[in-house]
Amino acid sequence: MARIVVTGGAGFLGSHLCDRLLQRGDDVVCLDNLVTGRTSNIEHLFGHERFRFVEQDVSDFIWVPGPVDAIMHLASPASPVDFARIPIQIMKVGSLGTHNCLGLARAKGATFHLNSTSEVYGDPLVHPQPESYWGNVNPNGPRSMYDEAKRFSEALAMAYHRTHDIDIRIVRTFNTYGPRMRPEDGRVVSNFIVQALQGEPLTVYGDGSQTRSFCYVDDQVEGQLALLDSGYQQPVNIGNPNEFTMLELAETVLRATNSSSQVEFFPLPADDPTQRRPDLTVAKRELGWEPSVELDEGVRRTVAHFIGELGLE
Ligand code: UDP
Repeated sequence: MARIVVTGGAGFLGSHLCDRLLQRGDDVVCLDNLVTGRTSNIEHLFGHERFRFVEQDVSDFIWVPGPVDAIMHLASPASPVDFARIPIQIMKVGSLGTHNCLGLARAKGATFHLNSTSEVYGDPLVHPQPESYWGNVNPNGPRSMYDEAKRFSEALAMAYHRTHDIDIRIVRTFNTYGPRMRPEDGRVVSNFIVQALQGEPLTVYGDGSQTRSFCYVDDQVEGQLALLDSGYQQPVNIGNPNEFTMLELAETVLRATNSSSQVEFFPLPADDPTQRRPDLTVAKRELGWEPSVELDEGVRRTVAHFIGELGLE
């Protein structure tokens, strides 16, 4: 049992992590400024004796009274829609926020666990992507604030590790999806499901041949906790290796929703990666972890959530 600070704990992924940490007996201090997080994601935890929520922007100085065993830094908007809307906040939480979390980890003698991203690989020229790949990132393009902030976060974590011997974990996530994504989030899984349920056309960007490898949120949380509990201090890919085109995803969503929506094509956003798939060799070897929820099943569970959220029961 440990006392764990989760930044971004009211967000999509963070709130699932809070649930799972509490379930296994840990104490959780959730920090979130509610820019993309939502109290509805954590209100079922209010009153839980081992859960505390503090509304706080971790880009400003943070202090948590009492002992802390680990800081899991998940705070960051993560949708390309947010990249255009609040780029400076994204850069601040990835840089200043990471610095503050590392300072707290140092003061408390705690482990620092960074939620990094497959976006550090940019539009990858190596496929699938092993952790040893340095990436192909546009340093000032429309996704750069997210990609470069996460790359900076990784570099800063390693600098604290080497200079101050801080215990670190670095997770690179690949397209996590599941219940509690915001309907207006803008990422492809939530967009397609909401559109299909509302009988609107599914908005495919480009010709729909670009690929992603989607990881169901429960698998992602288990992978992250396996890493936290390990002593492994290098980046680890956590994702699902099954790769789909966006047209295949659209078909999966139409099947799961039983929708007769059509597909409509829109221009491909600039710098949109053409392919992405994790090499999971390190996760399997170091953590003994691999995902188990197939896309069909994960999409069905996510559809059930959105039916409730949109009041379509
Ligand atoms: N995409 C799409 N329609 C949408 C939203 C996204 O075709 O309504 C595409 C997008 O161009 C990208 C892929 O789906 O190729 C995944 O996009 P998402 O924003 O979910 O994540 P990311 O690009 O960060 O992997």
